[in-house]
Amino acid sequence: MASQTLLLLPGDGIGTEIMVEVEKLIDWTNAEGLTDFSTDHGLVGGAAYDAHQVAVSEDDVEKARAADAVIFGAVGGPKWDNVPYEHRPEAALLRLRKELGVFANLRPAICYPALAEASSLKRELVEGLDILIVRELTGGVYFGEPKEITDLGDGQKRAIDTQVYETYEIDRIARVAFDLARTRSNKVHSADKKNVMKSGVLWDEVVRGVAKDYPDVAFEHILADNAAMQLVRNPKQFDVMVTDNLFGDILSDAAAMLTGSLGMLPSASLGAPDPATGKRKAFYEPVHGSAPDIAGKGIANPIAMIASFAMALRYSFNMIELADRVDAAIADVLADGLRTGDIAQDNRKTVGTEEMGAAILAKL
Ligand code: ATP
Ligand code: MG
Repeated sequence: MASQTLLLLPGDGIGTEIMVEVEKLIDWTNAEGLTDFSTDHGLVGGAAYDAHQVAVSEDDVEKARAADAVIFGAVGGPKWDNVPYEHRPEAALLRLRKELGVFANLRPAICYPALAEASSLKRELVEGLDILIVRELTGGVYFGEPKEITDLGDGQKRAIDTQVYETYEIDRIARVAFDLARTRSNKVHSADKKNVMKSGVLWDEVVRGVAKDYPDVAFEHILADNAAMQLVRNPKQFDVMVTDNLFGDILSDAAAMLTGSLGMLPSASLGAPDPATGKRKAFYEPVHGSAPDIAGKGIANPIAMIASFAMALRYSFNMIELADRVDAAIADVLADGLRTGDIAQDNRKTVGTEEMGAAILAKL
């Protein structure tokens, strides 16, 4: 097996603590001969600022481009609240996403049975939920021009954001969604606001065209506001949902909260396949941030980070069986009653980051 390269970017706060658990996992899969990963490390966010006065160095951007997959922890913290705007920790994320051209953001919302019964999480969880939201990540209203605030005088201002989508951007994200649906329950919902937005009209037109290439996949259009309503009312009707940058931001957060804790949620961001090799640039990170409030205490939940690594096995290296094993190990430790503080339940033992990581490894 040719050696495959992973660039590990732990970042700040709990990012560094949860990355340690992924490194142990990588050491184990390598030692077992299940993988042949070579790992490299880089600095991002506040850590990079302290070392190089930038959010990410050109050196590390280059390493990210060269790697088969980038595993990212989290960035930011109060220590860097006053660094120059262009070097703020979050700038590292935007820069890397842009450099890698990762336009497809995959956000699974999976509810583990062991957590669904957790009434003490004080939230309605949906047992058996398994949705994959595919969010367009590099276009739309977050990037469209003009984007400005104009002073009109007399205390009046005008703010403009512009939603721009071109056919190729919609086509490629739709294909990612339909390809993924084939590996799941063969169902795609596409959410837009074609009733009031021209970009929605084009979105729907292009996605419908792509759907014709996937006659085996059930396709349904849904208005984004209705999608929000249905996510709350009857979320299990969804398998894969593809949507634009803005709606995807909101709908994926809504779906996520049906599952438990921020500390449980992984994500992947994929680029276009290389025409020569078919390989996609890819970036894996937990949905949560650097959690400054609990950083350094050894109590962060490593599951989102470990599940992000499992997504790397699945989507970058096609190691489906191993990815399934890691996901099953997570479900197993939860079923055993192990809980970190963020998912703590009465009468369950609360463990720290290291213990949770070790328990998952032990299951494997
Ligand atoms: P960002 O701006 O980077 O998204 P944020 O302030 O919105 O950061 P997080 O850093 O994700 O959010 O933290 C939000 C809350 O969730 C915090 O109270 C934090 O302690 C908790 N939290 C986040 N991730 C974890 C985790 N892996 N384990 C335990 N608690 C977590
Ligand atoms: Mg946040």
